[in-house]
Amino acid sequence: MEKNSKRVYNFNAGPAALPLTALQKAQEELLDFNGTGMSVMELSHRSKDYEAVHNRAIELLKELLAIPAGYEVLFLQGGASLQFAMVPLNFLPTGKKAGYVMTGVWSEKAYAEAEQLGEIFVAASAKEGNYRRIPAVEELKYNADAAYLHITSNNTIYGTAWQDFPDTGTVPLIADMSSDILSKPFDVSKFALIYAGAQKNLGPSGVTVVIIRRDLLEQANKKVPTMLRYGTYAKDNSLYNTPPTFSIYMIKLMLEWVKEQGGAAAIYKQNQQKAALIYDVIDDINGFYIGHAQPDARSLMNITFRLANEDLEKKFLDTAKKLGFVGLAGHRSAGGCRASVYNAVPYESCQALRELMLAFQKENA
Ligand code: PMP
Repeated sequence: MEKNSKRVYNFNAGPAALPLTALQKAQEELLDFNGTGMSVMELSHRSKDYEAVHNRAIELLKELLAIPAGYEVLFLQGGASLQFAMVPLNFLPTGKKAGYVMTGVWSEKAYAEAEQLGEIFVAASAKEGNYRRIPAVEELKYNADAAYLHITSNNTIYGTAWQDFPDTGTVPLIADMSSDILSKPFDVSKFALIYAGAQKNLGPSGVTVVIIRRDLLEQANKKVPTMLRYGTYAKDNSLYNTPPTFSIYMIKLMLEWVKEQGGAAAIYKQNQQKAALIYDVIDDINGFYIGHAQPDARSLMNITFRLANEDLEKKFLDTAKKLGFVGLAGHRSAGGCRASVYNAVPYESCQALRELMLAFQKENA
């Protein structure tokens, strides 16, 4: 159980809560990492001490995500947003078309970026009805010669998530997993490329994790600037230039915590229990809290709900704020309320939110 009286109930959508033990370890090692007399921030990225951190973070990602042989794990900068451009720059050649499944604002952004760089099409969309659902596998429309199919595994703003991933055969499946990577076990081998900004489920901001299948890497467009080529990172173990060393170090600490919890399967169980605390209130007192996502498309990571009107929502958010809850307002493009309950959000925070929701309903029904 994580207790520290100064810590708030952090439901931020990202950057988000980190495990208390990881923060404490960073604090402990801040002035003297591993007997170097320096913090990790002050080490050369070419030093043995840093290299060990870097390689351990990669090794833990491979282990915890059960990444099969034949994949590279890369650390990039530029956020998931740069991936919206890097994917088509590298993998959308002239004469081919790439399909995008539209499930929210982040898919729209990925689409808009790719549209400037090559030929793309909408393979399916859940826009009608304001992104409350995920298209069924049968709705996906693409040809076998598509350059790739792009999906957003979890929709941070609308609070929906793919429950099962499609089998796309020979068409490379590419996923933005920024808001649910490592929240549950899944089959990496279905994907040709996965990318995720680290600042929700893996660590702090400043680093983007890319998992890429080597055969795809080999097909990449060579006429792309050096820093925008996946090959540059793969060739030099993400050490072609200076990587975001401290962010990668924090990933390592967070992954050590995930491993201590029992890995992806144990984290999944915790995530299900945490989300159920809140979804049960939405369902049990149906009508007071109105869930946005269709129940069969619910995200375990971002729980989105509305109250009867904006005044009541404001009162709820003001009450929450006074009681030490942070980050419960919905994204500016969607409004309402959103509780982001990523891997490191403690069970106790979810329990506290549940109690707040129940008490607020009693007083305001
Ligand atoms: N994709 C998804 C699913 C996201 O939630 C976000 C950020 N909230 C992004 C992409 C953009 O990430 P970044 O800020 O790292 O560019």
